[in-house]
Amino acid sequence: MSKKFNVIVNVPALQTNTPFTYIADDAVEDDIKIGSRVIVPFGKAERPIQGFVVEEVTQKVTGDLKKIISVLEPEPLLNEELISLSNWLADKTYSYRVSCLNAMIPNLVKVNTRRFVKINSEKITQTQVLELLGEQQVTDLKVSDLTFAQQRQLNHWIKENKVSLEYATENSARKKMINWIWPLITDENYGVEVDKIRKNATKQLELIEILKNIDPDEGISQTTLLNEYHVGRSTLNSAVKNGWAKRSEIERYRDPFEGSDLKSDTSLQLNEEQQQAYDLVVRAIEQHQSKPILIEGVTGSGKTEVYLQSISKAIGEGKSALLLVPEISLTPLMVKRVRARFGQQVAVLHSGLSDGEKFDEWRRIIRNEVKVVVGARSAVFAPLQNLGIIIIDEEHSETYKQTDAPRYHARDVAIYRAKNANCPVVLGSATPSLESRSRVERGRYDFVQIKRRANQKDLPEIKIVDMREHLGDGFNENFSAPMVEEIQKRLLKKEQVVLMLNRRGFSSFVMCRSCGFVLKCPNCDVSLTMHMDTHSMRCHYCGHEEPIPKSCRNCGSTKIRFFGTGTEKVEQQLAEIIPEARVIRMDVDTTRRKGAHERLLAKFGNHDADILLGTQMIAKGLDFPDVTLVGVLNADTALELPDLRASERTFQLLTQVAGRAGRADKKGKVLIQTFNPDHYAIKLAQKQDYEDFFRKEMYLRHLGKYPPYYFTALISISDRDEKEALKSAYEMLNIIQPKVSSNAVILGPTAKSISKIKQKYYYQILIKYQKEPGLHNALLEVLERSQEKFRHGTRISIDPEPQNFL
Ligand code: ADP
Ligand code: ZN
Ligand code: ZN
Repeated sequence: MSKKFNVIVNVPALQTNTPFTYIADDAVEDDIKIGSRVIVPFGKAERPIQGFVVEEVTQKVTGDLKKIISVLEPEPLLNEELISLSNWLADKTYSYRVSCLNAMIPNLVKVNTRRFVKINSEKITQTQVLELLGEQQVTDLKVSDLTFAQQRQLNHWIKENKVSLEYATENSARKKMINWIWPLITDENYGVEVDKIRKNATKQLELIEILKNIDPDEGISQTTLLNEYHVGRSTLNSAVKNGWAKRSEIERYRDPFEGSDLKSDTSLQLNEEQQQAYDLVVRAIEQHQSKPILIEGVTGSGKTEVYLQSISKAIGEGKSALLLVPEISLTPLMVKRVRARFGQQVAVLHSGLSDGEKFDEWRRIIRNEVKVVVGARSAVFAPLQNLGIIIIDEEHSETYKQTDAPRYHARDVAIYRAKNANCPVVLGSATPSLESRSRVERGRYDFVQIKRRANQKDLPEIKIVDMREHLGDGFNENFSAPMVEEIQKRLLKKEQVVLMLNRRGFSSFVMCRSCGFVLKCPNCDVSLTMHMDTHSMRCHYCGHEEPIPKSCRNCGSTKIRFFGTGTEKVEQQLAEIIPEARVIRMDVDTTRRKGAHERLLAKFGNHDADILLGTQMIAKGLDFPDVTLVGVLNADTALELPDLRASERTFQLLTQVAGRAGRADKKGKVLIQTFNPDHYAIKLAQKQDYEDFFRKEMYLRHLGKYPPYYFTALISISDRDEKEALKSAYEMLNIIQPKVSSNAVILGPTAKSISKIKQKYYYQILIKYQKEPGLHNALLEVLERSQEKFRHGTRISIDPEPQNFL
């Protein structure tokens, strides 16, 4: 009796959101495990497609079962824990199970299905088919690329049984194979073989010596023999022929760190505050507690050291550890420190790796060959077994939220996994998200603070430059006189400067340049966004609309305009003001290529430049001892975004970038240019007082019925036809409205801030709620309707707890 398995097939649709049962062929039965990827026939045409095995079926199944065609990998890519996680994830994010499973595995291993034309040579010649379709189409058919005449002829041939359409599936994952040499020279045969060599054949004599000294169980790579031992290729070939060595191809993991030198590193003696944090974590590890622990530690407080020692502890208990960072390319230092501490036991997962590297790292993890995984958001799905700790560094970072389906938050996934593994989740930040910090208040998380920097140095002094007063005294709109003066001072002392230009919300709002006034929505207390297509100011939350003002409502000034500027322009301005300064620009343009971040940072670290000018990507993780000045050119852009988290993001960003100054012996200073010097986010960032900020912001969120007091769900609707989009939006509204109570707040449908992109119109509905048991089913109904709408060209998406409203 063959085994039966439930398989989730790779067709994202409601009809295929539950598993189908297949029967295993005896030949493959033993290779199939939960989490294996298989090829199964699907649909009327029995098209072979990929699927994930989600469970074994032990009870009797009536009816004929189709057979599993093949198993893609000898070892599954996912384990039982992750398969069950996918179920929870699909439910939580309103997405299809297969989308969740696909989101978990690295890109490279996705399977492509190819359709090709099979020729029945008894009825038609190959030449005839090639003449009609061309070679490309015969091997990889894309019907949409054919002319109607070609399609007609092809259909004709299919009916006459001259050709048929077949499917081939291809696994894009490839192992890297290299030649390996296994010496067969032993103490016993050495003498005999040496005697056979002619005395003047020095090359062969040398080689046999080398082979004798290599461990026969370990062998050596052919490349090493050729390049480092300078063995000639022909000498080696004849050695293999003579039976001195065997040659075989073996799999070789691609090493993302190849070529980078690795210094090992040992634990530091923890200071008192670090020790307290560490003790809390260790207790949780020992007692198998999964209650999350929030570590609120100022920048430079040595959180990383606490993480590393906690990981050590978990490994010591025979467990594995997962460390998430916002974005690996921005935190090369962190990866280096983890590697320095744990060496080969570490795997790294992130988008900067080549697909091959990702595939290899993934398999090292699933084979239990590593103990620690470091990675960005999607690494939260790393198939580590026996988890002992999960750490999320900079837990407030918005990069942890996936913006495409499945729209999960890595923090939620981590907490869920930790609960199953009975291990702690450590959330670390200098500026925790309001969500996390408020859970401490409610007793849901444990909490520990580190208030002092690890090197006992004070936090840098922060000065606010009121741009309303300095508009005329600088050299241009981006550089006030105090800013230029401070920069010049550092250059004289051969110290370094970091300048940040905030590009968030670039040009999307208008602000009065005389008084800093920004137009806000009368109903929602968020700033209005300028829409050039309709020449109006609009609120994204409630749909309020009014004309673009010609003068300031607050002071009457007519100096009202877009706010925003680009890094390139600032770089030019800087060159005019301080021509002798050597500047490195870091933004999306200069860091597109792989490894560019690291190269630019290394250059700056080597003092090849005086000023690092960049977008917010420079706020994270830099640790350069000679940086004594950090300048923020425009603190306001993020502040005035039409986003309920605008103040929180501004506070976080300013605190984080300020933390880059004065990390070593020299005292640091921070200069923040702003048109809103009295805004609480800026004032409290100046005081570096997170706790105060937290209370103030919580109060405002409470008033506005925003998270973390309320949950949110965002439904986005788009269509080429504006009327269709709006009509669909109201249909969705009508699904939801009857299923929620009057306590829920439904905003919209309203046009999105960029209401028209690429000829498509965007609308949204925002739901704010506290307890709405009916909402889940209502959103599932929206998901169901969205599939039908999809066929008519309308796109509908559901974002639970959106992090971005633009
Ligand atoms: P954070 O992650 O909290 O911003 P880091 O972990 O980067 O802080 O630590 C800042 C600096 O302090 C690093 O250079 C680190 O080596 C150093 N450091 C951390 N802990 C200690 C300690 N216990 N004793 C001495 N130096 C420490
Ligand atoms: Zn004004
Ligand atoms: Zn509004």
